[in-house]
Amino acid sequence: MRIAVASGKGGTGKSTVSANLAQALSETQPVVLVDCDVEEPNLHLFFPSQNTQHPVTVDNPVIDTGLCNGCGDCGRFCRYGALTVIKGKHSFFPELCHSCNGCAVVCPQKAITMAPREVGVVRIQEPSPTLTLISGVLNEGEVQAPPVINSAKRRAEKEALVIYDSSPGIACPVIETLEGSDFCILVTESTPFGLHDLELAAGVAEEMGMPAGVVINRSDGKDGLINEYCKQVGLPVLMTIPFDRHIASVQNVGGLMALEISGWDVKFLKLFTDIVTILEACE
Ligand code: SF4
Ligand code: SF4
Repeated sequence: MRIAVASGKGGTGKSTVSANLAQALSETQPVVLVDCDVEEPNLHLFFPSQNTQHPVTVDNPVIDTGLCNGCGDCGRFCRYGALTVIKGKHSFFPELCHSCNGCAVVCPQKAITMAPREVGVVRIQEPSPTLTLISGVLNEGEVQAPPVINSAKRRAEKEALVIYDSSPGIACPVIETLEGSDFCILVTESTPFGLHDLELAAGVAEEMGMPAGVVINRSDGKDGLINEYCKQVGLPVLMTIPFDRHIASVQNVGGLMALEISGWDVKFLKLFTDIVTILEACE
């Protein structure tokens, strides 16, 4: 089973939910947690342990200027604007390149070969015998998150139970993360801004035909706005995490409430069993 954890904006507690859910599940079965928030991966802070690193590369064109006759066919072919040829001189913009190999195919001089360029790494940790953390990490200055997300997800593709922690928002990396998930947990806060972002994130899950449920984080007990919306659109509210000094003090030092505060492991296990029940009802 693959469960994605998403939120319409950053700072709602998405990583908190992912990490605590993984921690609670790991007490009963093997679980793999994949940090797909590759621009700012932070799940490793909850699980300090040794890691191994594996480079992620994309193929980019390399031009042999000795063979090139300056015809410009490669630049005209590249519909992404990654490669241009002006007066026989090439300009290449790696952040726009989709590694399609088309420029190499159309080059009449066979002057273009594709060569790997590192855009990030996948970091693997095993903080306990039943918990594996796989983090995608995009190199600084790089913009191509999807290859790093894909590479991180591929490392967990044979595992039975996987949790994907998505990047915030509703952009391309979120779609990449949600792709192939069975269920989406939408984390939100009980504010008008929280509701707006929840609506956007819920729209993405719906577009993808993915069952979803909501976790309200930092609740002050006045959740009417979110509850009303969820009722209207048929989204189950699966869990409410209160705004609480004890929880905040544990989290502020990178702690896990499922590990350190009595009863929260059971609550996160219930979150999981509720998801299983919803998925069984969908079959
Ligand atoms: S590999 Fe594709 S996207 Fe990249 S420069 Fe060549 S034609 Fe453009
Ligand atoms: S298509 Fe080949 S020969 Fe023509 S400009 Fe590009 S690299 Fe040079």
